[in-house]
Amino acid sequence: APGLYLVATPIGNLEDITLRALRVLRTADRIACEDTRQTQKLLNHFGIETPATSLHEHNEAARTPEMLAALAAGERVAVVSDAGMPGISDPGMHLAAAAIAAGVPVFPVPGANAALSALVASGLSAERFLFAGFLPAKAGERRTALENLREQMADPMTVIFYEAPHRILETLGDLESIWGAEARVVLARELTKLHEEFLRGTVAEVRAALNERDRMRGEMVLLLDAQPATVSAPSISIKDRVAALEREEG
Ligand code: SAM
Repeated sequence: APGLYLVATPIGNLEDITLRALRVLRTADRIACEDTRQTQKLLNHFGIETPATSLHEHNEAARTPEMLAALAAGERVAVVSDAGMPGISDPGMHLAAAAIAAGVPVFPVPGANAALSALVASGLSAERFLFAGFLPAKAGERRTALENLREQMADPMTVIFYEAPHRILETLGDLESIWGAEARVVLARELTKLHEEFLRGTVAEVRAALNERDRMRGEMVLLLDAQPATVSAPSISIKDRVAALEREEG
């Protein structure tokens, strides 16, 4: 049927493409992709010849009218990102919302996703979880984001972050100072790839394990077993903060 298809692609292992994804990509009129070169490799691998056009963070809004016109003309437009589900820390949501507003059918074609893959194999609770995506890159903003998260958390839940290898130690340091050294975390690296690895333990343990490595690399998901602050904790942290403010002013 004509419409917009949000198609998941592998996050490493090419066998994770679904039969339906292959059929949708093969029969679509065009494929809107985050990086045409990246997607072309996937299409070549599976012998798919559908034309690919670019749709990324910086041109998604500008390209939306053209895509909507194609959809209105009855085209089947597939959207893919470089890896995993489009729209999850990736482009696609702007076009999907515009298509819905224009009355165009939107179809999910589910498949690989790093957050959910990490979650189900983490050993942490999947009963309630929060996908927090990427934290801010700047140290101050990241700390504030984590402090706000901690303050807003009323119930225990697993929090899922996407993180870059060059920032993971800093982020673990922030988690340690905000949630405490005993908070439980899981670091899931290189999911579905040859060197897939899960590091499980307290923040302090996982930090120590990473500190021993020369160089951190690979894609990673960080999960936190987030317990809400105890009744007495907020008053302590407010006191700490007042003391810090006074130090800054003095
Ligand atoms: N749309 C993707 C999805 O559905 O998972 C996420 C795209 S986001 C731009 C890329 C981030 O996802 C990486 O920085 C990493 O945190 C995580 N990620 C993607 N592939 C991964 C993998 N194979 N192993 C671990 N983390 C991965």
